Amino acid sequence: MDSHNQFHRDTWVDIDLDAIQYNIQQVAEQVGAEVSIMAVVKGNAYGHGYLQIAKTALRSGASHLAVALLDEALFLRRNGIEAPIVVLGASRAEDAGIAAQQQVQLTVFNVEWIEKASTYISGDDTLFLHLKCDTGMGRIGVKTADEVKKIEKVIYQHASLHLEGIFTHFATADQIDRTYGDEQLARFQQLLEQLEKRPHFVHASNSAGALTREDSLFSLIRFGISMYGLSPSDEIAGILPIKLKPALSFHTTLTHVKKIMPGEKVSYGSTYVADHQEWIGTLPLGYADGWIRKMQGFEVLIDGVKVPIVGRVCMDQCMIRLPQSFPLGTKVTLIGEQKNNKILIDEVARHLETIHYEVACAISSRVPRVYWQGKELISVLNPLK
Ligand SMILES: *Cc1c(COP(=O)(O)O)cnc(C)c1O
Repeated sequence: MDSHNQFHRDTWVDIDLDAIQYNIQQVAEQVGAEVSIMAVVKGNAYGHGYLQIAKTALRSGASHLAVALLDEALFLRRNGIEAPIVVLGASRAEDAGIAAQQQVQLTVFNVEWIEKASTYISGDDTLFLHLKCDTGMGRIGVKTADEVKKIEKVIYQHASLHLEGIFTHFATADQIDRTYGDEQLARFQQLLEQLEKRPHFVHASNSAGALTREDSLFSLIRFGISMYGLSPSDEIAGILPIKLKPALSFHTTLTHVKKIMPGEKVSYGSTYVADHQEWIGTLPLGYADGWIRKMQGFEVLIDGVKVPIVGRVCMDQCMIRLPQSFPLGTKVTLIGEQKNNKILIDEVARHLETIHYEVACAISSRVPRVYWQGKELISVLNPLK
């Protein structure tokens, strides 16, 4: 396969599928064979692309997939994914029928919702449910023993419903201080004790929990950010028990190079004024690609050297200041490595005063994703094609 007939621009994301496989194998070894791995592929697999990541995760040892929305789950089903898929967010009761029919598992936390949902399930279909407990995240979930008991009872009263799992979510697992996590875990344990019968899957840990809290593995982990090779936070990066390999890198090329004179200006608003004679390069990406205006003042890599982004970032282009002239088509790396130098996605996140989760998600679908296994090009994701 040649990527050149798959898209016609010189800005792209490379995804190293071997890195995804490596990260899953590492965590599998860490948590042990009794703990199942649910690969979290919501948000277009954190910007990496739903399908290739889902397939790679499943062949690397994940047994389940998780998404945030029913539509994400249905997209995976339409594209041939047969593994169990759990929707972690709230769904509409009216959509229980299609979820059951497509064997998509839903999150529940409300008795009335369950009663209503059951009326939408047809024939012999069964809807698999995961009961969400809010032990301190304050987002969705039941909080009391009574709610847990009642929901369990109502689910057992309906032949079309099956309680497949019970779970909670940590708010601070990516911090060194375990106090709040300990409190959440204690509340979860109390809620588990209310059950007549434990469902097959009990789960609490995201990546951070899975990698730092052996007491919270239960029977399944929900593995998101670290599957993509990223530490859940800077704070715990130093204490992770496994090595992670980032899967994503982001590249573009020079489309124009020019020399400008002192006093000459660059981009909208003329906010950048040259002090000296300077070489300015133009890059074919901008905020429509997720390379937002706040990237002004940050750096990119060319020929292994960091150079600054100057002037305002436009919708489809931005400019960099070069130490010298370079040939058109020279590769520029926005996130990733070049000649032993690198720009980590964490550095981009720090510049934007956000977290790397958001940076990866923000790279827009207009940017083709190119998938690699070693040196072999596997496929290209380009929604414009
Ligand atoms: C997104 C999400 C995860 C994955 O978290 P990571 O920090 O990316 O591992 C796990 N559980 C729930 C409920 C989520 O929403």
